Amino acid sequence: MTEIILFSIGELGEVETALVELLALSLSEHVNLRSRVSDVVVPLEGAYDAARRQYYSTKLLERLLDHRAGDGAKLLGIAGVDLYIPPLSFVFGEAQLGGAAAVISTHRLDQRFYGLERDVELLYNRCEKEAIHEIGHCFGLVHCRDYRCVMYLSYAVEDIDLKSVVFCPACRESLPPR
Ligand code: ZN
Ligand code: ZN
Repeated sequence: MTEIILFSIGELGEVETALVELLALSLSEHVNLRSRVSDVVVPLEGAYDAARRQYYSTKLLERLLDHRAGDGAKLLGIAGVDLYIPPLSFVFGEAQLGGAAAVISTHRLDQRFYGLERDVELLYNRCEKEAIHEIGHCFGLVHCRDYRCVMYLSYAVEDIDLKSVVFCPACRESLPPR
């Protein structure tokens, strides 16, 4: 059965449980699939690049796939560390296009990263958009030109703040039916 399974990545407690649970609810609503939180905490092991002081997100996708359960399940990891994919200097997240695994990080979605005060509501809202966006890629969706659509490519948090949590009608059509 197609379902979305969410995993915390890193040390136990590194990613807030409340956030992961909210993302499961939001994904159930916007992608219209059963979404649940796994008890398994996926380790960051093997993904760290000491020279960059960042984590290679593609390695985290591989770690997630170790926990593949049943056909068609989509696996979303939530990390708190800074992610990159060469040659990009950083990414908010990564997904296998049409595949099973996706990852997002709270690191650059947190106002504190930009020297501002923590804003939990804004952080959670950005995480929702990025989680839905990456899961959209797992369903084969590519980037959308509509800046309001959740599949719009965000280069900066300002772009994320501008888009909505919903798919435009064209992107919506490529998702599992409601
Ligand atoms: Zn994308
Ligand atoms: Zn769209």
